[in-house]
Amino acid sequence: MKLQNKVALVTGGGRGIGKAIADRLAREGANIIVCDIDQATAEAAAKEISAMGVKAIGLVCDVSKSADVEEMVKKAVEAFGTINILVNNAGITRDGLLLRMKEEEWDLVLNVNLKSAFLCTKFAIKHIMRAGYGRVINIASVVGLMGNAGQANYAASKGGLIAFTKTVAKEFAGKGVTSNAIAPGFIRTAMTDKLKDEDKAKLTQFIPLGSLGEAAHVADAVAFLASPDAAYVTGQVLAVDGGMTM
Ligand code: NAP
Repeated sequence: MKLQNKVALVTGGGRGIGKAIADRLAREGANIIVCDIDQATAEAAAKEISAMGVKAIGLVCDVSKSADVEEMVKKAVEAFGTINILVNNAGITRDGLLLRMKEEEWDLVLNVNLKSAFLCTKFAIKHIMRAGYGRVINIASVVGLMGNAGQANYAASKGGLIAFTKTVAKEFAGKGVTSNAIAPGFIRTAMTDKLKDEDKAKLTQFIPLGSLGEAAHVADAVAFLASPDAAYVTGQVLAVDGGMTM
């Protein structure tokens, strides 16, 4: 129980990796704000987490929209008085080769995956600073380190998120706030369920640990970065990828 009485806000926390992160932080004793674009999903996740004995609320928000994020942070602070941990997890893909990629697909992915982190951090950071214990944790991707054919928009958004992470680390290092990124490899969620079985088998050949990861692997890394154990860790990118990028 390393996060008792801390308050964590997880974007895209209704399902997939975000839900696993919200559950894991709750198991450490944190109170949780589940933010999701779908109200019913956010509320159902919060209800489940409340049953673990912490306080949890679900808030609907499109993290790519400034007004939504401002309102969501306001409601979170009204409910819990503060925010300690911000996990910028919400993300989408709209894959396609560069020559066929539409401008709208580029804009949508950059807005949901990267602009969102700017907006959530901008509106939450003053509360995080005041709290005296602050963590910003951004869920990037190995693709942001390596690039990937067919994912120019997604790779650029995740590479940008890594640069953003380091900038936040530098700007807030003196204010009790650390900022780190996690670069998951291929993790079993709805996002990767879209891949054909033969493509998953091909990918597995490049994973030294020999299998796709689970959302819980990413959540465990987030729990470490959110905890006092990571007090002297900032501006880092932790790959949770079965060894893909070593
Ligand atoms: P997922 O299963 O598709 O879940 C994404 C969550 O984000 C969903 O709850 C979704 O809500 C929510 N969301 C989408 N757009 C949003 C918006 N505009 N505002 C607020 N919430 C929004 O994806 P995942 O696999 O868990 O991925 C989570 C994060 O990990 C993403 O940033 C992804 O890029 C990153 N990642 C995943 C993998 C992987 O292999 N799965 C690898 C590397 C990095 P709805 O379901 O209601 O649309």
